[in-house]
Amino acid sequence: MAEYDNNNIFAKILRGELPAHKVYEDEHTLAFLDIMPRAPGHTLIIPKKPARNLLDVDSESLAHVIKTAKKIAIAGKKAFNADGVTMQQFNEAAGGQVVFHLHVHIIPRHKDVPMKPPASAMEKPEVLAEHAKLLKAALAE
Ligand code: 5GP
Repeated sequence: MAEYDNNNIFAKILRGELPAHKVYEDEHTLAFLDIMPRAPGHTLIIPKKPARNLLDVDSESLAHVIKTAKKIAIAGKKAFNADGVTMQQFNEAAGGQVVFHLHVHIIPRHKDVPMKPPASAMEKPEVLAEHAKLLKAALAE
């Protein structure tokens, strides 16, 4: 397996070198909106400690990511009045991974509404800002 690349997009977001619509942050994890959401509220949760994916992450770091993913799933369901939540996580190119810093997708879902295909459309920054606001408010409840 290839080594962790410090210049992947999510490492740059963590270092503040690239912008992101952040919704939650703690000592071990960061959650921010996917720039090409498959449904409104689509959020990515990443560990702060470098890991390429599920195959090399240390168990403690992974546990922190899952704990944050649960928080975001509950907040996303509430904020978007969703009927359900999809959690996805891809490993290596053959497994569907495009960005090589471990991340979990949390996607609020509505009954009979299919997800958009991956990377189909870049969302407007003002829409992402509004969605981040809704998620933060639900997290604060
Ligand atoms: P995966 O590696 O799990 O297949 O997908 C990577 C995800 O990152 C995609 O859903 C894509 O839309 C998202 N993404 C790619 N580049 C950026 C970016 O610069 N900022 C944000 N917030 N998301 C991104």
